[in-house]
Amino acid sequence: MDTSWKIAVIGSGPAGFYAAGEFFRQKSWDIKVDMFDRLPTPFGLVRGGVAPDHQKIKSVTKIYNRIAENPNFRFFGNVEFGSDLHQPDLLKHYDAVIYSVGSSSDRALGIPGEDLNGSHSATEFVGWYNGHPDFRDHKFDLSVKNAFVIGMGNVALDVARILAKTPEELAATDITDYALEALRKSQIENIWLVGRRGPLQAAFTPSELREFLELPGADVMVEGNSLELDSESREILETKASKDTKKNIEILEQISASKLSGKKKRVHFLFLASPLEISGEAKVEKLSMVRNQLVKQADGSLRPQATENKIEEDAGLIFRSIGYLGKPLADLPFDQKSGTIPNECGQVKDTESGNSLRHCEYVAGWIKRGPSGVIGTNKQDAVETVHRLLETFLAEKIEPGQNVDLPDIVTLLESRKVEYVSFADWKLLDAYETEAGQAQGRPRLKLTSITEMLEIIRQKR
Ligand SMILES: Cc1cc2nc3c(=O)[nH]c(=O)nc-3n(C[C@H](O)[C@H](O)[C@H](O)COP(=O)(O)OP(=O)(O)OC[C@H]3O[C@@H](n4cnc5c(N)ncnc54)[C@H](O)[C@@H]3O)c2cc1C
Repeated sequence: MDTSWKIAVIGSGPAGFYAAGEFFRQKSWDIKVDMFDRLPTPFGLVRGGVAPDHQKIKSVTKIYNRIAENPNFRFFGNVEFGSDLHQPDLLKHYDAVIYSVGSSSDRALGIPGEDLNGSHSATEFVGWYNGHPDFRDHKFDLSVKNAFVIGMGNVALDVARILAKTPEELAATDITDYALEALRKSQIENIWLVGRRGPLQAAFTPSELREFLELPGADVMVEGNSLELDSESREILETKASKDTKKNIEILEQISASKLSGKKKRVHFLFLASPLEISGEAKVEKLSMVRNQLVKQADGSLRPQATENKIEEDAGLIFRSIGYLGKPLADLPFDQKSGTIPNECGQVKDTESGNSLRHCEYVAGWIKRGPSGVIGTNKQDAVETVHRLLETFLAEKIEPGQNVDLPDIVTLLESRKVEYVSFADWKLLDAYETEAGQAQGRPRLKLTSITEMLEIIRQKR
């Protein structure tokens, strides 16, 4: 009889993999992990979010590959929680479930005109250039002159950088072929990054910002006098600003001091401005904004406040990048405001408001804490969840298999005719993509259609 613990992990992004890895590190527990993902490809945003020109970051998948080699690990790609599998199915087959489904939606600006053609979320654009099957058919009108990215985090910088890079630079990456072709024909001349707060409060990190000093095809400038800090900002910079903030200011000063050299494109950093309205006949034509000033709060922090000063700019494309947001999962509580599943140290709460906890359901990663932090942040986060689970099982004296009353999940998937993809199958696809890429001197050529992915896997098996 199999006396091992059986855990289902829903979502194969960093959080899911770090959770699996932590289970396998427990020498005194015999644990089997089945990981499910709605896509045939694993690794979540490492494949579908991290920018194509940041290949080094993607090498974190080597760690996930090693975890997947554990004989107690199985991957079931192309299996969606909520359509192919439901919560009651999982609770009948597994001792516990960890939901690590990330945050696949995004926050809206909530301003008039946001739904006009030409106004998009960064999520759509990032998914499109990275070949996420959900976004491959999206169209972006790159024949316009002015593109605006609303937001000053690393994702906003990714979007602006991809728009600013030359086709030659992009051709050395694993950006999708269709995005490369569309960007090759791009007529965009001005790329604006708009932040409601000042440079001191920007959420991007110095390593991402520094790349703007080295763009061969774009001049970069800081608009207005936003680097002339008011006395309160100056005091914060000198007394309590983090190392990253100080570095950001240094780099922005370098950007500001650098000479414009007539390059084809220009990136504008516009701080202390909030979008008010997007307007146009059938599509985006103008963006109205208001200038903000920083006002000291009771807690000493500086918050942006609108002034009387309005700005209007010609705009052909607008990308909002003001934060990702989780989506609710069937049969699980959900906090609409934070876009997360309510939990205590990763253990799912029974309801949105109360404090009672579910014994067998846990969360990790962005759906647990919200869309913040880098890939590595999810490790600590997943480790906390795994230990909470193990401690709960010990405290409740739960025995392996105690709540499980059905055979292997494969029986259920086959009875539902779900064409699932194993990790060995993914490896076939991975080899196909990397070989196709290498033939063109690129890291990989991504397949973007699920049908096509399954077809290649069937052929190569
Ligand atoms: C555009 C972008 C760029 C980024 N760049 C960097 C970077 O350069 N460096 C860095 O350190 N961090 C970066 N990050 C942050 C990093 O990607 C996240 O911290 C991390 O991916 C979050 O991990 P996760 O496992 O919680 O979610 P995800 O990575 O989103 O993984 C969730 C997984 O769950 C699956 N899933 C969702 N719903 C279901 C369902 N119903 N059924 C089955 N499976 C489901 C998804 O397909 C996905 O594979 C970036 C984030 C974004 C958005």
